[in-house]
Amino acid sequence: MSMLRSYVSGRWHTPDVEGAPLHDAVTGEEIARISSAGIDMGDALRWGREVGGPALRELTFHQRAQLLKALGLYLKEHKDELYALSYRTGATKTDSWIDIDGGFGVLLGYASKAKRELPNDKVYVDGNLEPLGRGGTFVGQHICTPLRGVAVQINAFNFPMWGPLEKFAPAFIAGVPSLIKPASQTAYVTEKLVELMLASGLLPEGSLQLVSGSAGDLLDHLTEQDLVGFTGSASTAQHLRTHQAVIRSSVRFNAEADSLNCSILGPDAVAGTPEFDLFVDQLVSEMTVKAGQKCTAIRRALVPSNLLDDVAEAAREKLARVVIGNPANRETKMGALAGLEQREEVRRSLKALLENASVVYDESSFVDVDAERGAFMSPTLLKAAADAVQPHEVEAFGPVSTLLPYDSPSDAVALAVRGAGSLVGSVVTHDADFARDVVIGVAPWHGRILVLDRDDAGESTGHGSPLPMLVHGGPGRAGGGEEMGGMRGVLHHMQRTAVQGSPRVLGAVTNRWVTGAPRNTEDVHPFRKTLETLRLGDTVVAGPRTVTMADIEHFAEFTGDTFYAHMDEEAAAANPFFGGRVAHGYLVVSFAAGLFVSPEPGPVLANYGLENLRFLTPTFPGDELTVTLTVKQITPREDQDYGEVRWDADVANQKGESVARYDVLTLVSKR
Ligand code: NAP
Repeated sequence: MSMLRSYVSGRWHTPDVEGAPLHDAVTGEEIARISSAGIDMGDALRWGREVGGPALRELTFHQRAQLLKALGLYLKEHKDELYALSYRTGATKTDSWIDIDGGFGVLLGYASKAKRELPNDKVYVDGNLEPLGRGGTFVGQHICTPLRGVAVQINAFNFPMWGPLEKFAPAFIAGVPSLIKPASQTAYVTEKLVELMLASGLLPEGSLQLVSGSAGDLLDHLTEQDLVGFTGSASTAQHLRTHQAVIRSSVRFNAEADSLNCSILGPDAVAGTPEFDLFVDQLVSEMTVKAGQKCTAIRRALVPSNLLDDVAEAAREKLARVVIGNPANRETKMGALAGLEQREEVRRSLKALLENASVVYDESSFVDVDAERGAFMSPTLLKAAADAVQPHEVEAFGPVSTLLPYDSPSDAVALAVRGAGSLVGSVVTHDADFARDVVIGVAPWHGRILVLDRDDAGESTGHGSPLPMLVHGGPGRAGGGEEMGGMRGVLHHMQRTAVQGSPRVLGAVTNRWVTGAPRNTEDVHPFRKTLETLRLGDTVVAGPRTVTMADIEHFAEFTGDTFYAHMDEEAAAANPFFGGRVAHGYLVVSFAAGLFVSPEPGPVLANYGLENLRFLTPTFPGDELTVTLTVKQITPREDQDYGEVRWDADVANQKGESVARYDVLTLVSKR
């Protein structure tokens, strides 16, 4: 029988022991054996810190994003091998699609977001410059730099692909190496994934390691620069977060634990409305996709008391039509649980739930399988009274859900929050007032809330699908963690530091020109310089230009903007801010462009926008405008022969007062 390998300290490791057997969820047949015997966990962490970390930190955010994108595309080409293994976990094609293609989606999603939202640089600048002294010589800026340790990623058995990838992607973008420890039960899929990732040749050595089998003494070797990302049961989370090394070194510990997610049907959504059907469809789908083994699945369905029988009937009918059996068959809608032990565990939890509930549905038959040898079970829908305790405490991690009645919106909120913290909740209603009251009522207990109705159903990504751009995680019972959420997940792997100093020094630290830092006003106009020769602080000062009443009237007639403050002396005089006719702000910005431009063809290719535009002082007829345009940030694009240049534009009047301040965004040729 083949032994799963680990990849640590730069090589594949095959343990020389018998190992524990892993079984096919469908046939019960032994697939492989697993053990982490012989791995030097301390050395693996050291390898990540000393080899992987420096190699990643050599790269900019954009260079890492490019590698991540290439990796996602490479894995896509090899997905058949992963699908073949995924069936053995009991997953149907759709289940596997969520795990496998969903995992690629996280890589590609992070790659593209990082390119758009992070600088092509190694330091992340967080928030605005804070003036700390009156004279402008002492300022503060928050920066984020990658932690120098390893992101230890401990995953649950239910998503052997998506689970590791959604943790790996933000760590990689941040510049922190990953050590993946999959749940043993389905580690054969993750082993294949890591084999492919390494075979791609795209990843710097040390940026990815794999431990198949038990974590052993891994956590004993953690330092203050390492992180732990854990997904699994609440009890394991509790055990690990109180580990001595975690406490001693204040190791960042992010937990995604189990969760008794709810879906709430609005009182308006009676039988016959689109929302009623959406609610029932979603409930049945959340019970049966991945055989209910999703941390985000709906465990509690909260229904207005007067609609409970209708919902039960409609759900029973739909559940009876779900084809359950061999996940490799095309018609199969629900496969097996991940293993027999898992089914035992679910049966135990079901028994606890039944102490205070009755069965609405549990009688499916199974197609093309031996349901006892494989880990099959019928989807089971229960019904309990509003005051039952177990539905709010017991997680049956399988195709099990409970209907619970409620009487008023506040009642629905009170029941929902008895889950004591959830990853996700949904509200299915077309009544925006009900949706608002419930969303605001339950939000403090939830990481994500879906409001589903006839308007968004066609495009909705569904209750159970975490998305890379949205936060995944929840308070309390759900572990108190937060993963993904776009760049939030990246920043989790970085240390935020407040740096205080002079503008010149902060400019050097952040690789930007900072207000108050020296400017370089040599004779070459900066529009004549290529991206490669342009320097931070390069400046053109242009003007003055006098703004006349004729200019204002011409601009007003030409554009059609004849707002009274520009055209009506009496009305403008009564305006509390102006006291007389003023120039259009857009005229000021247009004159500024006319002043600073160097019009002949050259390296500046296009102006693609303005940001942070503020008009600070009114411009009156007769005022003289001078513009100072300074290179603030230079972002070469990795895959193009041009890059972005952000300019600081400051338009001042003859008294030296700033009348407008903004960033000009341009594309500039590299050569
Ligand atoms: P689990 O038993 O808690 O195991 C989770 C992971 O922890 C596995 O990799 C496991 O490795 C590892 N582990 C267990 N004891 C450990 C120890 N002493 N030191 C280091 N690692 C240890 O959970 P599971 O049965 O795999 O997963 C099911 C649970 O996960 C459900 O409760 C579900 O709700 C939850 N879940 C949550 C999310 C989420 O995002 N919030 C997602 C999926 C699942 P071994 O397998 O080798 O023991």
